[in-house]
This record gives sequence, C-alpha cells and structure tokens, in this order.
Amino acid sequence: MSEMLLQTRALTKQYGRHRAVDQVSMHIKKGAIYGFIGRNGAGKTTTLRMISGLASPTAGEIELFGCRGRDLSRIRSRVGCLIEGPGLYGSMSARDNLKMKSMLLGVYKRGYEEELLDIVGLGGVGKKPVKRYSLGMKQRLGIALALVGEPDLLVLDEPINGLDPQGIAEVRDTVLKLNRERNMTILISSHILEELSKIATDYGIIHNGTLLQELTNEELMEKCSERLEVTLDDPERAVPVMDRLGIKRYQVADREHIYIFERLEESAALNMAFAKAGIPVRGISVTNEELETYFLKLTGGGADA
Ligand code: ATP
Repeated sequence: MSEMLLQTRALTKQYGRHRAVDQVSMHIKKGAIYGFIGRNGAGKTTTLRMISGLASPTAGEIELFGCRGRDLSRIRSRVGCLIEGPGLYGSMSARDNLKMKSMLLGVYKRGYEEELLDIVGLGGVGKKPVKRYSLGMKQRLGIALALVGEPDLLVLDEPINGLDPQGIAEVRDTVLKLNRERNMTILISSHILEELSKIATDYGIIHNGTLLQELTNEELMEKCSERLEVTLDDPERAVPVMDRLGIKRYQVADREHIYIFERLEESAALNMAFAKAGIPVRGISVTNEELETYFLKLTGGGADA
C-alpha cells in the first residue's frame, strides 16, 4: 500500500448548531494530486482550514506526516496553503510580495524569489504592481507564496474559481509541474469535478459536510467511461457466458446491471449469447456518463439541490 501523507479521522467542525464538517475521514497518499470536490457550502474550505492549521477541529483527528495532536505544530511549515485568496500587497511587485513572505518565514536564499516566479510561470513579469495582474496571474503568485519554504504538501482552495480557460490551463500546468518535478503532494478543491479530472490522481467528494466517496482517477474513469449497460435479473449467471466469449473488462454493478467496457458494437451478439444460455436480457444500451452528471447524481440531483 502506498504511504499515506495525510489522514483525517472523523474530522468535525461545528459552528453553533451548524455542522460544517461532519466526521470526515480522508486519505491522501504521498505524491497524489487529491481533488476535493463539493458544491458551494459543502465544507471544503472549513476542512482545508483545519488541515492547514488555520482552524481547530471540534472533534476528530488529523494525522500529517505521521504526526498527530500537539506534534502537528512541529510540521506545519511542511504545509503551504492558498486558502480564500492569496492576500497580496497590491502596490508591490510579485518579487517584493515573495520577499516579504520569505522574510516572515526566515528563508534567505539568493535568487529565491526569481526561482519561485519561474516555477509558476511568472518569470519575467518585472516590476509591475500586482494589482495590475490578471486573476490568473494573481492565483499563480498566490501559489508561489504558498511555496515559500518548500512545503511537502500544498493545499489550494478553489484556485481555478473565476478563471478564464487560459488561466485554468496555467494553474493546472503549474500544479502538474510541482507534483512531477518537485514531488509535491497537492490537495486542491473545486466545485467542478470536470476541471480537476485532467490532473487529479484521487478524489474525495464532500456534500453537506460529509465525505460521500473517495476514489482513484482510474475508478472514476471506469465509472464514467463508455460502456455497454446490460439489465438482467441474475448478473452472476451471466459471468460464465462472458468468460466464454473472452470478455475481460466487465463489472457486475448491482443485482440487475452488468457494465461491459469492451466490444461495445457487439451488443446484438451478446444479447443472443445470453438468450442461448437461458438468461433473459431486459435491456442493453451503450452509455457514457458525463463526469458532472456522475457528481450531480452522487450529491443528489439538480444543480441547486
Ligand atoms: P464555498 O466554496 O462556498 O466556500 P465550501 O465547500 O468551502 O464552500 P465552507 O466555506 O467550508 O464550504 O462552509 C461550509 C458551511 O459552514 C457553510 O454552510 C458555511 O456557511 C458555514 N461556515 C463556514 N465558516 C463559518 C463560520 N466561521 N461561522 C459560521 N458558519 C460558517
């Protein structure tokens, strides 16, 4: 099993009578890009604030780099975060913003600011005050600020929110680069599953404060990929028939559905083979569930539910 970098156990945050985060147990492997998905108000920011040490849990536990409880304060510097906006000094340049943060954290290294700006693709922005930056540039500078001190875990709260397609692509590229070249583990939230599907290796889906599901990218793709959906009464009886036909990529989804991920054009032949084996098929169709539909179904229907 891969090494866990972060685990929470029944992590809970109560505001008055409202439970913003309810017994969340999440698991993030070292080296993962973990997409934390939930609609507005689902509890993402509150969870990320607890993980980053900006809010304290009402109940439950966080284990980070093998440390728990009081020991967590020792390893906080290994976590960099961008939560609820980067907090930039608008009249200063990117470099000076970075210099301030480095001084605050006691990091003194020649050329450090330039190095960080290069990583996030802002090398060569010169002295322009950051208030004249585009939203995408500000977000990338926010990421650069979170990188001061070389964290092993980077926590990014909705860094893609409000960006245009180019801005989204730039933030995505930066995240991938940090993960691949610097071996950084990244926890990144969004309210749009599709937006993270190009980079995330794992997902946690949160709704009304509860973690509904954790799954790997492969599992998600399998769930949403093109497939033959066969409806029948006793799927287990169909398994030997599929084996005989040499079908390897299939899944018995529940007590009346089988998903087949190959030979999608052979539905008629398949139907016949089942019939010959005395297994009546009630329906057979090719489906391809959109990622967003999957997410909406999981979190209970329409966009405003
Ligand atoms: P968004 O994307 O809108 O920020 P989110 O998934 O990050 O959503 P949170 O900001 O974590 O959600 O909020 C979860 C719930 O907790 C919301 O109902 C919010 O109103 C409530 N909440 C968050 N912070 C506080 C607070 N300081 N006091 C009271 N309630 C709060």
